[in-house]
Amino acid sequence: MHTQLLIGPNFETGQETPEPILNPRTGGLILEVPEASTAQVDRAVAAARAAFDSWSRTTPAERSAVLLAIADRIEAEADAFASLEALNCGKPINAARNDEIPAIVDCFRYFAGAVRCMTGTVAGEYLSGHTSMIRRDPIGVIASIAPWNYPLMMMAWKLGPAIGGGNTVVFKPSEQTPLTALKLAHILADVLPEGVVNVIAGRGHTVGNHLINHPQVDMISLTGDVATGKKMLDAAAKTVKRTHLELGGKAPVVVFDDADIGAVVEGLRAFSFYNAGQDCTAACRVYAGKKIYENLVADLTAAASSIVLGDEDDTRNEIGPLISQRQRDRVASFVNRARELNHIHITTGGEAMDQGFYYKPTVVAGAKQDDEIVRREVFGPVVSVTPFSDVEEAVTWANDSDYGLASSVWTKDVGRAMATAARLRYGCTWINTHFMLTNEMPHGGLKQSGYGKDMSAYALEDYTVVRHVMVKHG
Ligand code: NAD
Repeated sequence: MHTQLLIGPNFETGQETPEPILNPRTGGLILEVPEASTAQVDRAVAAARAAFDSWSRTTPAERSAVLLAIADRIEAEADAFASLEALNCGKPINAARNDEIPAIVDCFRYFAGAVRCMTGTVAGEYLSGHTSMIRRDPIGVIASIAPWNYPLMMMAWKLGPAIGGGNTVVFKPSEQTPLTALKLAHILADVLPEGVVNVIAGRGHTVGNHLINHPQVDMISLTGDVATGKKMLDAAAKTVKRTHLELGGKAPVVVFDDADIGAVVEGLRAFSFYNAGQDCTAACRVYAGKKIYENLVADLTAAASSIVLGDEDDTRNEIGPLISQRQRDRVASFVNRARELNHIHITTGGEAMDQGFYYKPTVVAGAKQDDEIVRREVFGPVVSVTPFSDVEEAVTWANDSDYGLASSVWTKDVGRAMATAARLRYGCTWINTHFMLTNEMPHGGLKQSGYGKDMSAYALEDYTVVRHVMVKHG
């Protein structure tokens, strides 16, 4: 297993506190990864700065070739990457190998194609005797900071458009899940010129904080918590850095009385609990029409209690544990506070398991709009269900959230689906499904879920800057 940081062309051991990396299935120690010193962060930024001049002048075809090489190398080592991610995060091996790795490979391939196909405004004579043209140029050195829920996928989402767009990067994985990033660093060192991507490990308030406040960093890209995003904005203000923030969610799921309840339950079983609910788009806040509410709660309860987790044969597991004891205790405390309310029934789950950091899939029925469990991001395998009376109430409640990342509408009536989707204040609305992402389509939020798009041509726009070049004739 790799534990060294990539700084310029060199692999170095972190010079500061060793961070224990735990196996969430058992709570046992995997190994320790020493974090970067401030001097090492400074050298990583300097290496990215030095690499920018030549990397930013490579052609799209050259950058595309590198992105394709990264994709091929990850694909060639798919089993090793999947095993490492499964070990560090507790993900079922089938989810890591069959869901995540192919999507990660495809992300690099998508940006390899997209960077060669960027389009824009036509050049022309908008002032007599002058020709104007629009350029899209790289921004500079990007500080990229990732969370622990999808470590390698978040790295792909951030590196693809950043280096595809001609920027250089200092990447910091979550201190809890650095292992796949440190492995990918060895591939990056092989295929990229030195300094184009640097990978440093360490905690947020030490290594991350030094990185985002660095005057030589031009843009901060974070996927993380809202509170962390606000720290990015404070740091960015000092030298007016650009920011790209993906900050969590509390996805409403509006189920009308005419929905196909079998499909809704099958969808929620998958989309509410995937990755143990540690997903910013998780279908965690269900609003159900009054006529179907009782049946939906009963069927969802049965479906959630049938989810396989903690089995000795990992190929049978559908979800894994939470990332840490802290996260498990946080999830438990949300459910315990909800349980104290008279109108709430925990119809299944509601307790930790006596191994590792597992928490049972949980359904919280009878929740009301003002309840904490409806309002705050739990980031665990917990779904609340709230009955609604009419479409106005459903849309009002769905939109009544600080978050604005993802949402879904379930109905057989196309007109109602389209009219409701148009009114939801979320970066994405799915109709009769939830959670489905594709590299061609943008992912990103409104409100306190942040701004900036991952994936798609819109991400390439976010990681490049529009410039005007004007020529005076004669
Ligand atoms: P977090 O905000 O605690 O940490 C995210 C990253 O920020 C980590 O690498 C951490 O070390 C770093 N960090 C923390 N404090 C910092 C500071 N002061 N300066 C610089 N860096 C700092 O989030 P987390 O607990 O790792 O991840 C879970 C959160 O991420 C959830 O809120 C989740 O919803 C969100 N998330 C959002 C999306 C999205 O696309 N919107 C995707 C995945 C996760």
